[in-house]
Amino acid sequence: MNSSEWFTEQLPEAGTAFSLKIKQKLHEEQSEFQFLEIYETETFGNLMVIDGCTMVSTRDNFFYHEMISHPALFTHPDPKRVWIIGGGDCGTLREVLKHPSVEQAVQIDIDERVTRLAEIYFPELCESNNDPRADLKFIDGIKWVKEAEPNSVDIIIVDSTDPAGPAVGLFSEAFYRDCFNCLSEHGMVVQQSESALLHMKLIGEIRNAMSNAGLSHLQTLFFPQCLYPSGWWSATIAGKSDLSRFREAESANKPFDTVFYNIDIHKAALAQPEFFKKAFGL
Ligand code: SAM
Repeated sequence: MNSSEWFTEQLPEAGTAFSLKIKQKLHEEQSEFQFLEIYETETFGNLMVIDGCTMVSTRDNFFYHEMISHPALFTHPDPKRVWIIGGGDCGTLREVLKHPSVEQAVQIDIDERVTRLAEIYFPELCESNNDPRADLKFIDGIKWVKEAEPNSVDIIIVDSTDPAGPAVGLFSEAFYRDCFNCLSEHGMVVQQSESALLHMKLIGEIRNAMSNAGLSHLQTLFFPQCLYPSGWWSATIAGKSDLSRFREAESANKPFDTVFYNIDIHKAALAQPEFFKKAFGL
């Protein structure tokens, strides 16, 4: 925080910063894994910060949580078993459980304290935590996937922090290979893949690592997220099989409410910018 009134996240390598005017700091602690802070802001509701990086705000989390889950869930032909690696604020879990086809959604976050704080400061994100299909585990997602049985999951959503600290391995080829080994026939991984304006090198590394791991059908989706650096974020889906179609009729008639996602947003998010096509030969 650069004064008593503002929280600022600086990204020195990009020469950018994002600030929110705050009313008060509600909580801070050093967990076993990371430094956690919660603020009450003037205009964005509550804000969670991990190791100085903005994670979630009450006001704008719907962009990210909806776009990291619904496009993949409407692309898989029949998603029944979903794992969320990270995602401790439980917002992605809530979106995944909106899909009636899902029989089991396991959230695997290394840090239980993130979820305990979300229950207090973001209760609306945790409203599906007691759904009988939900299972919350607090262990390292890398270990979880490495030890999983073949054919034990349909979609793995990697809702992680940036590639630093305990999340570094979640962006590696070895991790995606372990994902490949436990995914079912039409299985897919969805990875939050940062900003196409600021992190093209990283997006290239993610796409290469996924492809080398056998998840060769790639789709990077773009969506706004004002809280994160540049305000323009992405998720990359990597599938064992063709991703070029999604279940449009079911998306158009989805039996649940969203704030941002709909069939037109889904199609728009798949549009690839010129510089992105050039960079990856699309
Ligand atoms: N949407 C956020 C973003 O892009 O900044 C991420 C939100 S979520 C809170 C990120 C979670 O990833 C954190 O709760 C953190 O504990 C978890 N995480 C980091 N490394 C992990 C690992 N190796 N296994 C499981 N969870 C991990």
